[in-house]
Amino acid sequence: EYLKTLNKNYADKYIWRIIMEDKLQVSDVFQAKKRIKDYVKVTPLVRAENLEKLFDGAEIWLKLENMQYTGAFKLRGVSNKMLTTQKEELQKGVTAASSGNHAQAVSYMAQQLGVKATIVMPENAPKAKIKGAKGYGAEVVFAGFTGQDRDEKCAELIKEHGYCLVHSHMDPAVIIGHGTVAIEALEQMDGDMDELIVPCGAGSLASGASFAIKGVNPDIKVTAVEPKEVPLFTEALKANKALTVKMGQTIADGLRISKAEEINFEMIRDNVDKVVAVDEKSIEEALKLVGLKEKILAEPSACVGIAALLENKIDTSKGRRICIVITGGNVDASLYAQLI
Ligand SMILES: *Cc1c(COP(=O)(O)O)cnc(C)c1O
Repeated sequence: EYLKTLNKNYADKYIWRIIMEDKLQVSDVFQAKKRIKDYVKVTPLVRAENLEKLFDGAEIWLKLENMQYTGAFKLRGVSNKMLTTQKEELQKGVTAASSGNHAQAVSYMAQQLGVKATIVMPENAPKAKIKGAKGYGAEVVFAGFTGQDRDEKCAELIKEHGYCLVHSHMDPAVIIGHGTVAIEALEQMDGDMDELIVPCGAGSLASGASFAIKGVNPDIKVTAVEPKEVPLFTEALKANKALTVKMGQTIADGLRISKAEEINFEMIRDNVDKVVAVDEKSIEEALKLVGLKEKILAEPSACVGIAALLENKIDTSKGRRICIVITGGNVDASLYAQLI
């Protein structure tokens, strides 16, 4: 009901507080994991022996969400959101503003459930992304060039058609769904993990993964990694509030988000031990290493965790068991060729 009354902003700033207040529990992540199991893949967790040789004896494990359906972890949160939305609501159709992996996940999940998806993209969206969403049967509409243009278009569509919004990062159902990747990796490591490292853009993965991990074992360190060019949560934590940063140029297109939302800020502040910012050069080096040493096709955004290791920002001492989420593998072929 609330979503139907949106105007300019997607969500009232305080609604989530009501939802969150003592109501989100780690058991919600386990329930989500059960709920979405027919729609998401249990992705492989592999030990990166070749990468390990570059460091001081820590075990490095990679959780391969690049092998997830649609090529990124985003399906976890999206499927949880859509499976917790009432059928009558879903039947009206869903909408999302995204030109990236979130768009693919929403389109894919809508197709799986037999509902209509309308994706709002910028007028200059890459052809491959438009094709990707259309390939899963979604309708693509274009709205200006800024995030605000897209938000307004989304709100218009919701008002006009009653579509259900699947927001990429400020929805507790999405955040909890993303948390399943952490629980799954922890299970695959038989509960024996010293540190979890996740990339961080808008911070919904970091929110959900850290919430899940700390809920199971508060001794496990959680580190979120962002590009130095978009140091959103580094700055937000410094200022102790959700804020907007000036965005530089980063190759990690999934992490180009300049505005922190409160829900993600507060969850990261409360559950993430450390936010690390990495250079562009290390991201490129990490992509090469993952591709050529580990034979894993990862997109730039997925490589920031390994970039943090390369910059000596992670304790890699002997015996530590580190898990890094390789978040996606959707990268333009010519860009990938150029980087490799
Ligand atoms: C969305 C995305 C991220 C960042 O996730 P946030 O929840 O926005 O922080 C990282 N890597 C890939 C591949 C993504 O698609």
